[in-house]
Amino acid sequence: MNSAAQKQIAFAELVTQAAACQLCPALVERRAVLSDKNGSVDARVMFIGEAPGRQGGDRTGVPFSADNSGRNFERFLASIKLTRNQIFITNAVLCNPRKASGANRTPTVREAANCSNFLREQIALVNPRVVVTLGRIALDALRRIRYHEFTLQTSAGQIHEWGGRLLVPLYHPSPQVLASHRREAAQLEDYRAVAKAVRRINRRHGRAMSSLHKHRS
Ligand code: SF4
Repeated sequence: MNSAAQKQIAFAELVTQAAACQLCPALVERRAVLSDKNGSVDARVMFIGEAPGRQGGDRTGVPFSADNSGRNFERFLASIKLTRNQIFITNAVLCNPRKASGANRTPTVREAANCSNFLREQIALVNPRVVVTLGRIALDALRRIRYHEFTLQTSAGQIHEWGGRLLVPLYHPSPQVLASHRREAAQLEDYRAVAKAVRRINRRHGRAMSSLHKHRS
């Protein structure tokens, strides 16, 4: 069996484990949003959000789709000419947290800690060269996997090294964040750092391939 097939099998096992997970008492009614719909397990770029939205990922099974945050995300992604089949996208917390009213709520620290093993496994499996976090919860979730001191206030829209990968922290694309913390123009500018990081890893990959070919010839 080749390594691509082994990777698909390992991902399918992770999907099964997440679907059966009941670690968070308040989320046992929700389904974990993790499947082939998250994107390519061979992607070089991985986006990590906060948690699936009630009208978005929880309903469609596709993270960041069909709600306002999803539509904003898709617009920002298109601005740097990346498509969903070139990326893998997931959330720090795989199940949708809701208030008693049914509205989305921020995941608790305990829920994010509970789900950090799934995030660690996804990063190890996809092995992205560029990691992009969407919002504070996602950036904090990475800290549990490998310590860093980045914050949105000091590091958003910049390229950093994190555990042998490039990390670009971004603000969350929700309408509330766009209205109060990081407006459209600033977010579009931040996404240019993602494009720059992708060009950088593509150049590195090109150099590695050309030295491999020289070595073989
Ligand atoms: S959020 Fe993560 S840890 Fe919590 S129940 Fe869902 S899959 Fe399990």
